[in-house]
Amino acid sequence: MKCDKCQSHIESGEEREYTGQILCEDCYMESLSPVKTCDPWAVYTAKSLSGSGSTLTKLQMNILAVLKETNGIEFEALTEKLGLKSSELQREIATLRHMEKLKAVMEGDKKLFCLWQ
Ligand SMILES: [Zn+2]
Repeated sequence: MKCDKCQSHIESGEEREYTGQILCEDCYMESLSPVKTCDPWAVYTAKSLSGSGSTLTKLQMNILAVLKETNGIEFEALTEKLGLKSSELQREIATLRHMEKLKAVMEGDKKLFCLWQ
């Protein structure tokens, strides 16, 4: 007997039936769970990366451009530079931090925002 999917030989009694096909153990398991779960972290990461969260808005790219240009900038200065309300900028910063694009560093008593790397 042969597996309908991979055509490999199946020992009598080892075959599995799935949606009308005769499958070997491997193909049967694969059919049951199309996403391989042997590495749940990789699956999780791939999912979160392909989500909408990975796409930067124009504003977010602008923010990152300023951070790159200035090598770190204070919140106030950044709002002025971008002409944003602080509440708007706060939200973008939270998003970018979450995406690991931006971080806050303390320089003396000043809090600067700069690129993650
Ligand atoms: Zn097979």
